Amino acid sequence: MALRSFLLYLSRRRRLRRWMETSPVAARLTDRFIAGLTLDDGLVVCERLEREGILVSLDRLGESVTSLAEAEASRDSYIGILDRIAQRGFDATISIKLTQFGLDLSEAACRANVEGLVSEAARLGKTVEIDMESAEYTDRTLDIACAMHQAHGNVRAVVQAYLRRSAQDIERLCELRVPVRLCKGAYKEPPALAFASKREVDRSYIRLMKVLLESGRYPGLATHDPRIIEEAHSFTRERGITPDRYEFQMLYGIRRDLARRFVAEGYRIRLYVPYGEAWYPYFMRRLAERPANLLFLMRNLYKG
Ligand SMILES: Cc1cc2nc3c(=O)[nH]c(=O)nc-3n(C[C@H](O)[C@H](O)[C@H](O)COP(=O)(O)OP(=O)(O)OC[C@H]3O[C@@H](n4cnc5c(N)ncnc54)[C@H](O)[C@@H]3O)c2cc1C
Repeated sequence: MALRSFLLYLSRRRRLRRWMETSPVAARLTDRFIAGLTLDDGLVVCERLEREGILVSLDRLGESVTSLAEAEASRDSYIGILDRIAQRGFDATISIKLTQFGLDLSEAACRANVEGLVSEAARLGKTVEIDMESAEYTDRTLDIACAMHQAHGNVRAVVQAYLRRSAQDIERLCELRVPVRLCKGAYKEPPALAFASKREVDRSYIRLMKVLLESGRYPGLATHDPRIIEEAHSFTRERGITPDRYEFQMLYGIRRDLARRFVAEGYRIRLYVPYGEAWYPYFMRRLAERPANLLFLMRNLYKG
């Protein structure tokens, strides 16, 4: 737990981030979790996965921009991604973070940027998944996701099972027919807002997952946890919920064996594929989830 907190603390250090992202050994550190530095790298991975029957959500790494010009540039580069995936006929969604679209600077400007992207995605028949960041952003992120879905019908919101509020959020999203990605949650939150133990988080995840499977609109079950996946299988079998009514989601580079098994068994599986130069906070959150990954990292550096 202490190591997890320390890694999450490091994930927010700006100077360390700058140093790591420009380090000559960056590629050796990151290639397990990140598709590469450019959109072309992301598309190569996307093409390979689609050939294997695995769906993709492309994420251009970046969060917490510091100027409105940067936020507009994020929007424009995502519009560029949409054009490329539409041209190549990929069945991919895109995943965005609202702090990358200016949420820290101006909620109105952020909304306008997201509106520009979501309307272009709707024109191209694509879905935009709006990642959930730390708890200070939950209300604003869900409000924007709901408004965009109501206006364009092509947005997926994200709910974190570790937040105590999530049952109410799921109820609201189900009522509004907004598709939801359910994940456990990757940030450091105080006990007043979030369950702290794995047992409580898992219990919350299973409870919310069942609500989504029964009353939600095409939920995305984002987890690598074999016990929860087993629980999803037995619940859907018991209730006669067919595999076309939901999808599993996992992160690129984690449990590749499971992803292939899902495809072989006829389940829908989407991998979240991140690429880009601003990889540090994403990468550190992956280490924090499983500090044993530090050993893997050391081995890679040593081999290099
Ligand atoms: C598609 C997708 C989208 C996500 N979007 C968001 C989001 O928008 N906001 C947010 O807060 N979080 C997001 N997350 C992260 C999520 O909240 C968890 O932090 C992460 O998925 C780990 O939780 P778990 O459900 O896999 O269970 P855990 O209990 O953490 O792990 C279960 C098992 O999965 C494997 N595993 C999990 N993580 C790792 C890892 N990093 N490296 C190696 N093995 C691992 C291990 O075998 C572990 O025993 C997303 C996750 C996925 C899969």
